[in-house]
Amino acid sequence: MATPLMPYRGRFAPSPTGPLHDGSLVAALASWLDARAHGGAWLVRIEDVDGPRCPPGAAEFILGQLAALGLQPDEPPVWQSRRGELYQAALDRLIASGQAYGCACTRAEIAAAYERTIGLRPKHGELVYPGTCRGGTHGRPARAWRLRVHGRIDWRDRRLGAQTQDVATEVGDFVLKRADGLWAYQLAVVVDDADQGITDIVRGEDLADNTPRQIALQQALGLPTPRYLHTPLVLAPDGHKLSKQNGAAALDLSDPVARLAEAAQRLGLRPDLPPGITTADLLARLATHWRQALESQAA
Ligand code: GLU
Repeated sequence: MATPLMPYRGRFAPSPTGPLHDGSLVAALASWLDARAHGGAWLVRIEDVDGPRCPPGAAEFILGQLAALGLQPDEPPVWQSRRGELYQAALDRLIASGQAYGCACTRAEIAAAYERTIGLRPKHGELVYPGTCRGGTHGRPARAWRLRVHGRIDWRDRRLGAQTQDVATEVGDFVLKRADGLWAYQLAVVVDDADQGITDIVRGEDLADNTPRQIALQQALGLPTPRYLHTPLVLAPDGHKLSKQNGAAALDLSDPVARLAEAAQRLGLRPDLPPGITTADLLARLATHWRQALESQAA
């Protein structure tokens, strides 16, 4: 197993839009196991930048779910809603270096411009921004702030292998601060991962297509790029991915050992479950299996 250059620091970064479900546990467990297998630290960050989507008490509920599973962070959790000054400082740097610009476009204007633009498709969740305000807003007030992007990002995922995305044509200049005044996930996550010294990001595969945007932003801010591992998604019986937004059931924590064992199986681990095993024992065994798997991959 390659020795990381920096002390390993990993994190689990739930958005508290609802309780953890079977799918989010897979990401949480994988990030915990990878940190333990590398002898590193595991942090929890509450990604509550989008306040209106976070019901009161949901973050505390998630922290309680993690505790019930024996997944205890090594440092006190940080809350994105309390870190606006850091995000503003990063945006100010990007504006000062000409890499971010104010955008006066409304959604309707972007949609209309988009319809006139041939060959661009909303592959990555948002309409491709056609660059209308790149050269200035012509006296209109800026509503949002965007990153000026350039071309293709090549990156490597530890499970998915070599990846590439042409951020300029597939996404366009993306939003850093939204028209409603909220910080965009992309900016908050990049600033926080760097500020917390995160060396390894382990999270669900649904976030993989955000990674090139995040790498573009790291490069614009002169920040290091962590290693990435995107874990398999858990699908509902109808084939949709489980997500808090589509109302996936909260984890049933009447039997935390069983939940951990199911999540471990989804990660390809086959733990023995002697009767009466505790969450702590099971987690220790799983960490050993995870380390052995890393060692055999490296061999
Ligand atoms: N907050 C994001 C989510 O809950 C995860 C972000 C990340 O791990 O980078 O989907």
